[in-house]
Amino acid sequence: MASPPSDTVAIKSLVDLHCHSTASDGRLAPADVVARAADAGVTLLALTDHDSIDGIAEARVAAAEADIELIAGTEISASWQKRTLHVVGLGIDTESDVLKAGLAEHQQMRVARAEKMAAKLEKAGLSNAAERAASMTADGQITRTHFARLLVEDGLVKDMNGAFKKYLKPGKPGYVGSDWCELEDVIRWIHAAGGKAVLAHPFGYNMTASWRRRMLSAFSEEGGDAMEVCCGNSTADEITQATKDADAYELMGSIGSDFHGPDQHWLALGKVQSLPKSVQPVWTTLSQRASY
Ligand code: AMP
Ligand code: MN
Ligand code: MN
Ligand code: MN
Repeated sequence: MASPPSDTVAIKSLVDLHCHSTASDGRLAPADVVARAADAGVTLLALTDHDSIDGIAEARVAAAEADIELIAGTEISASWQKRTLHVVGLGIDTESDVLKAGLAEHQQMRVARAEKMAAKLEKAGLSNAAERAASMTADGQITRTHFARLLVEDGLVKDMNGAFKKYLKPGKPGYVGSDWCELEDVIRWIHAAGGKAVLAHPFGYNMTASWRRRMLSAFSEEGGDAMEVCCGNSTADEITQATKDADAYELMGSIGSDFHGPDQHWLALGKVQSLPKSVQPVWTTLSQRASY
């Protein structure tokens, strides 16, 4: 059979707008995340470290080398109704003073929280937690993930999930609450930096359906632009529901793996369902992104 003319050959272009590097709780340096994404066939990537944009400069250089398009992003923790939500900011100006000031506030909170967590975990049997967590992160944000890795490394639990369940969730011996800035402030910082505010992993908050509806409604009312419809670990039912939610709450859609490292063998950069046709892709509203 004759091959089709080259202009009709579909070129697979993968989009992944949520992943982490060593600027927060990812395993790989920003440049290595970008190179790995390019190898996996990703053509449009956002690096979204927790409360940080510190990996973006390195990622930009690597993206230019690998010929992959990079969107500057961050995943910001936010308080809403005494809960923590994650808001991904996409297409942000990394020089924005408003955004930089907000992230600096969260970074200070993380340092203070990590000290308290380390002290509690040391009491609970994790040796040298403060020093080891600090050396793991170098210049990155200290997150609960780092302590979870130490708990696994020392054999106090058998896997990451066990670390969260036994030590790091509310009510557990290593848990310290955090007073992140309010959702409306976080959305405001992202908008001040010219970015779009995306509600991350809407099924990742252990909420009942009625709380999820309340959250989506508040996010939309407070000016949120989009929600993640397809995440790396989404089920088909979640995607169906999120597609309906995006329509009902007038939100655009985003997709992202939430890749943290090669050890998460069930996740890979670019391994995300495509956005259902009825949902407007948030990346088409970022400058120059309309062709994806
Ligand atoms: P933090 O922002 O410091 O509270 O840390 C939150 C991070 O912990 C998330 O971004 C996830 O990467 C990680 N995390 C939360 N729950 C789990 C879990 N059950 N297993 C593995 N990682 C988790
Ligand atoms: Mn994380
Ligand atoms: Mn998250
Ligand atoms: Mn994430």
